[in-house]
Formats: sequence, C-alpha cells, structure tokens
Amino acid sequence: MSVEQQINELRQLLNLYNHKYYVENAPVVSDYEFDSLLRQLQDLERDNPQFNDPNSPTKRVGSDLTNSFRSVEHSFAMLSLSNTYSLDELREWVERTEREVGQVEYMCELKFDGTAISLTYENGRLLRAVTRGDGTRGDDVTENVRTIRSIPLVLTGDGYPDFFEIRGEIFMPYSSFDRLNAEREAAGEQLFANPRNAAAGTLKQQQSQVVAKRGLDCTLYQLAGDHLPFESHAESLDAARRWGFKVSDCSQLCCSIEEINEYINHWDTARKEMPFATDGIVIKVNRYSDRRKLGTTSKAPKWAVAYKFKAEQALTRLIKVTYQVGRTGAITPVANLEPVLLAGTTVKRATLHNADQIAALDLREGDMVYVEKGGEIIPKITGVELSERKADSEPLKYIDTCPECGSKLVRYEGEAKHYCPNQSGCRPQILGRIIHFIRRKAMNIESLGEETIELLFENSLISNIADLYDLKAAQLSVLPRLGEKSADNIIQSIENSKLTPFHRVLFALGIRFVGETTAKYLAAHFRSLDAVMAASREELIEAEEVGEKIADAIIDYFADEKNILIIERLRAAGLQFEAEERVAASERLAGLAFVISGSFADHSRDELKALIEAHGGKNLAAVSANTSYLLAGDKIGPAKLQKANKLGVKIISEQEFVEMIGGDTILSQEQSQPAESTDNNITQQESDTKNEAKANAPENSEVATSNAPTAIQGSLF
Ligand code: NAD
Repeated sequence: MSVEQQINELRQLLNLYNHKYYVENAPVVSDYEFDSLLRQLQDLERDNPQFNDPNSPTKRVGSDLTNSFRSVEHSFAMLSLSNTYSLDELREWVERTEREVGQVEYMCELKFDGTAISLTYENGRLLRAVTRGDGTRGDDVTENVRTIRSIPLVLTGDGYPDFFEIRGEIFMPYSSFDRLNAEREAAGEQLFANPRNAAAGTLKQQQSQVVAKRGLDCTLYQLAGDHLPFESHAESLDAARRWGFKVSDCSQLCCSIEEINEYINHWDTARKEMPFATDGIVIKVNRYSDRRKLGTTSKAPKWAVAYKFKAEQALTRLIKVTYQVGRTGAITPVANLEPVLLAGTTVKRATLHNADQIAALDLREGDMVYVEKGGEIIPKITGVELSERKADSEPLKYIDTCPECGSKLVRYEGEAKHYCPNQSGCRPQILGRIIHFIRRKAMNIESLGEETIELLFENSLISNIADLYDLKAAQLSVLPRLGEKSADNIIQSIENSKLTPFHRVLFALGIRFVGETTAKYLAAHFRSLDAVMAASREELIEAEEVGEKIADAIIDYFADEKNILIIERLRAAGLQFEAEERVAASERLAGLAFVISGSFADHSRDELKALIEAHGGKNLAAVSANTSYLLAGDKIGPAKLQKANKLGVKIISEQEFVEMIGGDTILSQEQSQPAESTDNNITQQESDTKNEAKANAPENSEVATSNAPTAIQGSLF
C-alpha cells in the first residue's frame, strides 16, 4: 500500500471512530488503540508533508455536533489537549516548555472522563451552555445543563466579570451510572458502555426531565474571557470557587518534572478510590503570561498536556468458557473468571466474541489471563500469562452443537460467529424473539416482562409472537403469580399494542439487522409491510441506510413460510401494517428531490426533511443526476459539494429554501413526523451493519471532514 493510501485509510478510520465516540457515544475501540492510530497518522504526515490536509483528524478537534440542537459559535475556540501515555514524552514537553519561557509553575489536575462544556454567565446568571462541538461551534444544551444541580444558575460572592465563559467537564459519577444501567437492563435497553458515554449521551437527550433524573455532575477547570482580572490559572480557579462553581480540590501546583511525577504516581492509585472516572492527569502552565508566549496549535494549546493512564489491567484465572445463545441464534462465548477487582468493579466474566478470538489468544481453561476494561462495559481478555500455564493444559475445543437445543452449529459466509440454525425449536431464540417484540421500543406491551413470557412459554400458551394475540384472560389468571387483575392488564396492554405505529411493528418483528432506525427508514420509504415484502433486493437497497446485508436479511425473513404465517396472524389480529398518512402542508415542492448537507442555523436536518416531505418534495441521501437541489448548510460535506457542482445541481441556502416554501416552517404534529432519528440507542449490531452495508459514512461524519477551526478567534491566554 502506498503512503498516500495508508494516510487516507487512517484518516477515514479515525473519522469513523470519532463519529462513533463523539456523536453515537458508542466507541468501538479503546482510547489507547485510537491514540496509537492517531500517532501513526501524525508520524506519516510529518514525514510526508506533501499529503498535508487541514481537515485531517490530527489537525482538528473530534466533533460532537448533531443536528438535534441549535449550534452556537464559541467566542473562543474550544480545543482539545495533546496527550501522551509516556513519562519520557512528558519530561520532553516540560523541557521544551522551559526552554521557551524559562522556569515554569505547573498546575496538575485530574482529567475527568466526561464531556466538555462551556458555560456563559451574564451579570452573574447562567445564559448559555454549549458543548465543544467541532471546536468552533457547539450544540446549545442550556436547558439540559440547567438541571445539573452542581452548576450555579446564579453566582454567589462578587467580583465576577459582567460577561464571561467558564469551561469544565460534565460527568456521571459511578453511583448514577450503575443505577442508570441497572434501570436500562431491567427495561431491556442497551447499556451505556462507560460513564463518559452515559454523560455525553445524557447531555444530548431531547427531554431535560430525563437529564434531571440521571444524576450528572460538573467540575469547572478553565475561565475564558477577554479581560479577566487574574494573572494565573490558580487565581482564577480560587475566584471561581468563591462564585459558587464546583472546582476540584485535587489540583496541585508543581515546579518540576519530579513533582509532576509524584502527583501522577499518587493519583494513578488514589483515583481508583474516587467516586467518578478519570482517565489521566492534565498538566497546565499556570501563569497567563507564559501561556500567551507558548500559544496554541489549531487543535490544542501548547501550554497544557494530558498524561493519560492506560486502561487498567488485572491478572486472574479463566475457570471455564460457557456459551450463550442470542435471539438470532448467534453463539457468544463467555469467559468465567476468578473474581478480580478492576477499575472499581469486581469482574467475574469477560466476553470472548467468537471462536477466532479464542484461537488467536490460544486460550485454555485454567490459564492466568489479563483482563482489561477499554471502552466496553464488559471487560475483555487481552492476553495469557504463558509462564503460569499448567503443563497438562489443553487447547480449548470450541463447541459444534448448540448448548441449548443440541442442533449442529453453522457458520455463515463472512461471519465470525457460529449460529444455531434451529430458530423455531431453540428455547433462547424463541423467548428472545418474543421478549424483543414486547419491549418498550418495539410493541411496548408493558404489563408483560421477561419472567411472564417464560411462564407463558413453559405453560405452552405461546411459542411465537402471534400467539400473544390469541391469549385469553381466563388462561392467564390460573397461572402462578398472575391473578385476575394482572391477567386483565396483560390482555388490555396486548390489545393496546395493536395501535403501535407501523415502523415499530417492523422493528418488533426482529428481522436480523433491522434495528429501530433502519425500521424507521424502511417504513418511511415503503409505507406498508406489503410493499416491504414485495420489494426486490435492488428496491430494498434504494431505501436510506439499507445495504446489501440488511436487504438479504429482509428477503431471507420473508422467504420463510413460518414467518409468513405469523405475519398473516398478526395482520388478522389488527396490527398496523401501514404507515400513517402524512398530511401535506402544500404541493410547492412536488416533483423536486433534495439532498441536505451541513448544519443549519434555524432548523435541524430532521426538521428540514420533514418540511420537504410536507410540501410534496422528496429527500435523497446522495447527490445524483436526479437531485433537483442541494440544500447546503455550514460545513457542507466537500464530496457532496463537488458532486453537485459537477452535475450542475443547484445549491441553495436555508433561507432560499424557506422562501421556496413560502416562509411557512411550522408543521402540525402529523406533518412533522421525523424522517430520521438521532437516537443514541442504535444497537451496536445495527450501527455496525450500517457501516458495513453502506460504504457511505453516516451523514454526521461530514462534519468531521469539513473545515477545521484553523483560525482561532481570540486566544485563551
Ligand atoms: P481528551 O479527552 O484527550 O482531552 C481534552 C478534554 O479533556 C477536554 O476537552 C476536556 O473535556 C477534558 N478534561 C477533563 N479534565 C480536564 C481538566 N482538568 N482540564 C482540561 N481539560 C479536561 O481530548 P478529546 O479531544 O476530548 O478527545 C480525544 C481523545 O478521546 C483521544 O485522544 C482518545 O483518547 C479519545 N477518543 C477515543 C475514541 C475511541 O474510539 N475510543 C475516539 C475519539 C476520541
């Protein structure tokens, strides 16, 4: 592979990881892996300056901008931090800094693992709260931030500037995180991988009542303003404390690399006792005059550096490998470990993903293994301590029959996992499908839970989702734990579920790879189940976000006669198999096809899509010869722009668009049914599939390839 190809591949990969981390809050690699790849790219770019690109992920801040919030320009760029995992590199940074400005005082602080926030105060009152976004603009999350109790809405004391910004980290303490995940588990929802993702995901919730319940906290660590009355960072933090801000008292002034190292050593251990997650130490030059001399790059200040701790590791014994069977028949091997303390929790199990991973690690029962917690909530095994391997240990033999029903396992082409093919006879698959069907995000049959489903199954009352609609109260009330009242409630909520909108019915069917978001796209595109069933592979792929893999899964599902029988019974029961008609606002855009790209001042992309449809127009995902207009916002994807220019597609602004629809941008509820969801709870499987299935990067990642905040407006000291 040529150097240019390597550079391009790394940029693409890092942009994708940034999107997963900042926008979806679902990282797929550990920070250490991400930082190693970023370092590789930095080295290649340094040695090959002819491939320099100001949009490279080495040059810009990873963006959390979404289209669900109004975006606001920062008065001062909100940058990242350079980081290192090496004490030698930290020493070099100290030496370099002192060569430039002489003897320096450093403020060492804990690096809180949450999400950055900028708070603006006017006359002592909270005016605005904005996320870091792409460093130049951020998402306005003021209403959500107002619910965080540790953030003062009105300042105390005196002497604060009339207008200033203060920056800090919003984080989720372990106690809130554990509670939230326990609730999500009970509700059958996807768990947050770690407190950072939970904090970032919560901050981007659409309902501030939900944010209020989640127990977020905030620590402030940086004042920003044009004429701050301080000489140093330490002074400014003292003042911030007096004004009522929560400022960490674990910070310490240090005057040499030795003192910095002592601070690091102390906190590397002491942080494990803290009630919140930290991922390193931030070392900052204290005096503002020194900071001004040192300056910043386009991505980070030169006067600060983060020393990051590597993911924690523990050594423990692998007692046994067991196997779980999922709703789709996928087999997941699980390592059962001797309990060991790791990053604040006792670890007893670790995921092993698939047979290939076990083979690659040459894992054997009885081995001493290294366990790590990276981005994931379930720890993983990263290696075997061979010096402790018993002489009589034997390579692990992967199962070839289903641990639940004994069927011979199969492996599909291109899939790493083994599958049990006995879909209609294997207990966890049958139960898994019914439990998926009743979930809140699917049919929301709230009076049924996992235990009741098991009870009904054990009593031969149900063996598939259609059986639910044949249940009678008299059959239920005689079962243990279910009286007449619960029986009536169950029947009533099954009855109510018949009104569930079509896109959720489609999701509830449990077609492989058709998650919540894909179901919405399919419903919006085809409008009825009959149309989905009748669609060819090519027609399915025309729907947004549907790639070959998803199309094949849909075709396979409807090719199975057993599924067709179930569908016909559900139809007879009266489930919604058609999307609700949208009420048109006008026909002004009839016959016109639009592609939307970038971020907009007055509307989210969802709102614009809904407006287009409500006025009779059509939304397209990509620019083609069929596109009538490219509706372009800020930071439009360069590829789309290029293509539009090449094909002569007319490019219009948000304002021009609003004029086209006669200035009427208010839609009734039926008209504004969103065409797209930015829900953070897309399952990992669904989002992985999307990325595999469609080569196109997700829409939001355009933001990650657009102009970098190269010109820093104002300078923070
Ligand atoms: P960063 O998290 O390494 O450092 C900058 C951030 O630190 C600031 O924005 C602020 O939010 C935070 N911070 C916490 N305590 C602070 C303090 N006391 N003073 C100042 N800042 C403090 O940088 P980043 O740009 O937010 O993220 C980049 C890093 O995120 C990468 O280096 C990588 O480790 C991780 N990342 C991981 C993935 C992944 O897929 N795992 C993807 C993208 C980024």
